[in-house]
Amino acid sequence: MEGKPTEFKKTKEFLICIDSDGCAIDTMDLKHRKSLAPCTVYEWGLEEFRDAIQRRWREISLYSMDRGVNRFIGLAKILKDINENYKHVEDLDSLLNWVQNADELSNDSLKAEVERTDSPCLKKVLAWSELVNGSIRMINTDEKVPFDGVREALQKMTGFADIAIVTAANEEEIRKEWVYWDMIEYVEHIYAQEAGSKASTIHRLKELGYASDHILMIGDAPADLKAAQENGVLFFPINVREEKQCWEEFRREGANRFRNGIYAGRYQDEKITDFYDNLAG
Ligand SMILES: [Mg+2]
Repeated sequence: MEGKPTEFKKTKEFLICIDSDGCAIDTMDLKHRKSLAPCTVYEWGLEEFRDAIQRRWREISLYSMDRGVNRFIGLAKILKDINENYKHVEDLDSLLNWVQNADELSNDSLKAEVERTDSPCLKKVLAWSELVNGSIRMINTDEKVPFDGVREALQKMTGFADIAIVTAANEEEIRKEWVYWDMIEYVEHIYAQEAGSKASTIHRLKELGYASDHILMIGDAPADLKAAQENGVLFFPINVREEKQCWEEFRREGANRFRNGIYAGRYQDEKITDFYDNLAG
């Protein structure tokens, strides 16, 4: 199978949007451990602090309310921490200003900013980001394993809902993973970073005619919850370190509640409270 859903068509009354990284597929820890953290150590010459930096990356990017933030925002936090506690980071303010003020945080907009400012720190950030892209591509797809229970949940969902992947990652990469694990067959469409923000994607899907309480976003990061809330649709969290239990819970109970119109209210509120507690703890 080519694995390329083309145009999205509304075929059912329900829509489920699923985030991929750290939600359906266990890639977050892998990407931070094998790419983002080591590339930071390399680019800023931080070998002597390697372990501490690795640890901080995990604390900030995996186990806090910053989980899933844009890579440049994550990097700015880490470098600020490094600058305060380990080693001076030259021209750090250029990065801090850029992440705070830029309309778009991407390689393209960073390139334009480097040309405009000739900032030494931003030049390093661009080199870092390209190195991150290259090293992420080098992680074998067979290492990026779906969480237990995802497939069973998809089988259940596909009986009554249209399914879209809504991700901030690169489309080609996500497609490769879903094809590799034979899960693409459940999916109507992949909306990736090229499609715009998660919130704007959900907004566009809503316009296809699904009722607000017939749309559910499943995600692992505060940004996923925010995208759902901004559109007034439902949210089911996949909590870090509890992914398997969460997918089981969804298959056993969440999916039925969603389908039967008894999802919003106490059940969803409890899920969201647990989600925050898990990231804050
Ligand atoms: Mg995610």
